[in-house]
Amino acid sequence: MGDFVVWLGSTLVMFSIIFFVFGCMIGSFLNVVIYRLPLEMNLSNPPSHCPKCETPIRWYRNIPLFTWLWQRGKCAECGASIPSRYLLVELLTGIAFLAAWLLVFKQFAAPGEVLHNQHWMAAAVTLALVTLLAILIASTFIDFDHYMIPDELTIGGMVAGVAFSLGAPHLHGAFFGEEIGRAHALLLSLSGMATGGGIIYAVVRLGKMLFGKKTYRADEPVRVTFGEDSMHMESEDDDEGIEILYEDMFYRPGDRVALHAERIELTDRCHWDRPVTITEDEVRLGEDTFKPESVDHLEVYTDEITVPREAMGFGDVKFMAAIGAFLGWQAVLFSLMISALVGAVAGVIIMAVRKDGANMIPYGPYIAFAAIAWIFGGYELWHNWWASLRP
Ligand SMILES: [Zn+2]
Repeated sequence: MGDFVVWLGSTLVMFSIIFFVFGCMIGSFLNVVIYRLPLEMNLSNPPSHCPKCETPIRWYRNIPLFTWLWQRGKCAECGASIPSRYLLVELLTGIAFLAAWLLVFKQFAAPGEVLHNQHWMAAAVTLALVTLLAILIASTFIDFDHYMIPDELTIGGMVAGVAFSLGAPHLHGAFFGEEIGRAHALLLSLSGMATGGGIIYAVVRLGKMLFGKKTYRADEPVRVTFGEDSMHMESEDDDEGIEILYEDMFYRPGDRVALHAERIELTDRCHWDRPVTITEDEVRLGEDTFKPESVDHLEVYTDEITVPREAMGFGDVKFMAAIGAFLGWQAVLFSLMISALVGAVAGVIIMAVRKDGANMIPYGPYIAFAAIAWIFGGYELWHNWWASLRP
């Protein structure tokens, strides 16, 4: 018994260090994903380099946490500052991986648990959890920056969630201390995906029916560019601006973007002071109408623009479906409630602090936060709550 306790203790410490370091390394990679994936850049090529002086970063200058701290957030070559968010993502991922390992250790190694000594299953469940956590972290920061979550993460997450449910069925049962078979886990995964996607889809539809549109105002005219599959507008309080996918804007027939343009720039000409309306199949500039396909380049300057769009979009539908695929339908219901609650509270605070209220807050980060809350404690609350309802 004594030997076992020593073995358990040293395993705990050793793997805790390994998971934290491994998490920081993955966090370093997630910084690349967060920056490159939404821009549709290759993730491995070109290798990491300073965005300012373009000097490639050598391996010994690319050590998670240490490099940033050692160089005090500056490029070693040109002194350009590296945002502290890089450090934050590395640290956050390190902590998330460590916490996932400790959670699985607690569930699987606890004496007397049914799952005692199932090393391979414990390893597979840990791998599933850290994969999900990495997806949640990357999606959160991309959603903050671009108001969208790439399909690689959401649809990729659904595929991974189903695969892990088959390969590591205890992902769905271990936390409740239950033995769970593959078929049961697959059922929980698929129903989680359907519940998550279905409910958010209904919320998006309902939101569009009830509220329909959103107006952005600026003190000075800002540039709005209509690209191939999204609209981008400059923002006074956000350097990156705001990007909205057409698939989120043109949803119902009759959905349209309306604005009064101070200036309109097309490929070959320019107009001043005209109303502009854009629907999925028509671009109207003053008296002239065009087919959207025939307009190569459209840029307008305006101080007010109305778009059909809600805080939630179809990216969130796929995102919640991915979480459901990993964690099952109970997690989805829990995440919906918690994200709505936290979102409402944060919305009130942000509106009180910021007078303009014009800046859109994406919903994805709230969902991610709620899913993390489920993994690290929510499931226990849920389970105890259900148990208390049973006579
Ligand atoms: Zn540099």
